[in-house]
Amino acid sequence: MKVNIENGIFHAVITENDHVEKCPFCGSDDIIVQNTWTASYWVECSDCGAEMHTQSSGDHDNKDHHLREAMAAIDAWNVRAKR
Ligand SMILES: [Zn+2]
Repeated sequence: MKVNIENGIFHAVITENDHVEKCPFCGSDDIIVQNTWTASYWVECSDCGAEMHTQSSGDHDNKDHHLREAMAAIDAWNVRAKR
């Protein structure tokens, strides 16, 4: 996972080092992590639109915080996908 900054807005991006389970609904491996400008992240399947949200708040201007929250969203997705 890495965090990019565009126009002062943080966005996390999945990298090849991240383990991300396939979509539990359609089996796609085209999975992305999304956020708006806050550190509230959700994981989304690009093919069927399934989403996994996490409850998060905190320091929206902190890059490490964004990284943690994005990884937490992936973890939640992986737990859901394995069920
Ligand atoms: Zn899907």
